[in-house]
Amino acid sequence: MHGESELTELTPIPCDVFVRYGQWFQKRYVGDVEPASVAGVDRGTSAFVVGLDDGRQLTAAAVVVATGLNGLAYMPEELLRLAPGGPGAGALVSHTSHHSDLPRYAGQRIAVVGGGQSALESAALLHEAGAHVQVLVRERRVLWGSVPQLGRPWLQRLAKPASPLGTGWTLAAVCRAPGGVRRPPAAARLLLFRRALGPSGGWWLRERVEDVVPVRTSCSVTRAEASGSTARLEITGPGGSEPLAVDHVLAATGYRLDIDALAFLAPALRRGIVCVPGSNAPQLTSTFQTSMPGLYVTGSLAAPMFGPMMRFVAGTEYAATRVARDAPRWVVAP
Ligand SMILES: Cc1cc2nc3c(=O)[nH]c(=O)nc-3n(C[C@H](O)[C@H](O)[C@H](O)COP(=O)(O)OP(=O)(O)OC[C@H]3O[C@@H](n4cnc5c(N)ncnc54)[C@H](O)[C@@H]3O)c2cc1C
Repeated sequence: MHGESELTELTPIPCDVFVRYGQWFQKRYVGDVEPASVAGVDRGTSAFVVGLDDGRQLTAAAVVVATGLNGLAYMPEELLRLAPGGPGAGALVSHTSHHSDLPRYAGQRIAVVGGGQSALESAALLHEAGAHVQVLVRERRVLWGSVPQLGRPWLQRLAKPASPLGTGWTLAAVCRAPGGVRRPPAAARLLLFRRALGPSGGWWLRERVEDVVPVRTSCSVTRAEASGSTARLEITGPGGSEPLAVDHVLAATGYRLDIDALAFLAPALRRGIVCVPGSNAPQLTSTFQTSMPGLYVTGSLAAPMFGPMMRFVAGTEYAATRVARDAPRWVVAP
């Protein structure tokens, strides 16, 4: 990409630069892309049948599911009770994935539930837009990433090697060899998936949150009730429970890897996908193929097989090269 200023680890990438990079990549390496929403994927007699939301149907020898976190947003049951008609920006509760316009809450009382980047960045944006924000964090403290050091001495690099996901031997190993993560038993892989890179805030966000936005730690929402246009919460911490009344609850409660949440996959197709024991994420071959021949899954849903790098942009090259090498074998020559 030309004409952009140089970015280092000390330069958080602005959203518009990231989008321009995606568009540049598409023009240069992908070619034509048809904007279309997939409403259904099913297995026909000799190929997949892909239904689009405009009613058209295509057949495909192979299908690559690369839909990211779409449809996988997770919200705790007690918060869902605030929105019998379903969560959303106009309801009493929403998930961070519902938003692209947080300033709509200017002047309102907002409880942000969660302690990761989504919670902390949303809280900063809400506060900066003039909302009265409170962050409710389950953990004992908020973790912040450390400021990256450019040009580290070799001894430090040896002790804590760098990787696209941060420094340290474990991260460096899982980034260097995602294929190696597939080998240990499922239980070990799931442990890695659950423990590696827990909730934390980016180092560049810290000064916009710490001592700026009220953050309550060691507490969870144990009850939530709608009372007219107010959400009445019960917040429980080590000192007991207390009430909190807000105009909106923003659940920054992350995503659940659940193949059943991909409603566009026909139920029979989903039932045929073997999952990693102890999870609802698909078991994948070394080329990201599910147990349904010709059906591939990449992105976060591949993390329980290939490790934490699959949750990040850095993991896309590993996945894409393997899928691109393998999937064409399903295309039968005319
Ligand atoms: C809050 C947050 C912060 C993040 N920060 C970072 C970061 O700092 N660094 C990093 O490397 N990664 C970060 N990530 C992760 C990063 O966003 C993902 O790794 C990356 O976007 C995955 O790419 P993808 O192509 O698999 O999915 P996505 O980028 O999510 O793309 C999915 C595509 O599928 C399309 N789609 C979905 N459903 C359908 C359908 N039914 N029909 C047609 N199209 C459909 C969507 O429109 C979209 O174009 C972050 C994620 C979140 C949520």
